[in-house]
Amino acid sequence: MLAWRLGVLKNEGRATPAQISMAKRNNVEMALKTARESRQILGAMGITGDFPMMRHMMNLESVITYEGTHDIHLLITGMDITGIAAFS
Ligand SMILES: Cc1cc2nc3c(=O)[nH]c(=O)nc-3n(C[C@H](O)[C@H](O)[C@H](O)COP(=O)(O)OP(=O)(O)OC[C@H]3O[C@@H](n4cnc5c(N)ncnc54)[C@H](O)[C@@H]3O)c2cc1C
Repeated sequence: MLAWRLGVLKNEGRATPAQISMAKRNNVEMALKTARESRQILGAMGITGDFPMMRHMMNLESVITYEGTHDIHLLITGMDITGIAAFS
């Protein structure tokens, strides 16, 4: 829903950097959660090289850091909501 709403706002030229921060952070978290759940569904086979879930998880761990880290996007979202910056 967040990604869809951001897409609509972007098409209308109304998306803000803070909204993009929130969406990037959430999308990566959801993708990582999905990859972890998929790994768990496969049981022990999920950690073998026969299935690609661990590769997806490792890729997503990288995405947590690049293009703005998980923590920094949270600080940006917090600043957008409260008007108070917890960083300088
Ligand atoms: C696969 C990959 C590809 C990349 N590609 C590029 C690229 O193409 N171009 C480019 O310029 N950079 C790239 N980077 C670099 C990436 O943008 C940085 O690694 C990222 O911005 C974090 O900076 P840092 O590694 O110096 O971590 P730091 O700034 O040292 O942060 C370390 C940790 O502390 C947290 N942290 C930092 N400050 C605060 C704070 N005030 N409050 C709370 N937590 C805080 C961070 O969230 C992070 O978890 C890439 C990184 C990776 C992993």
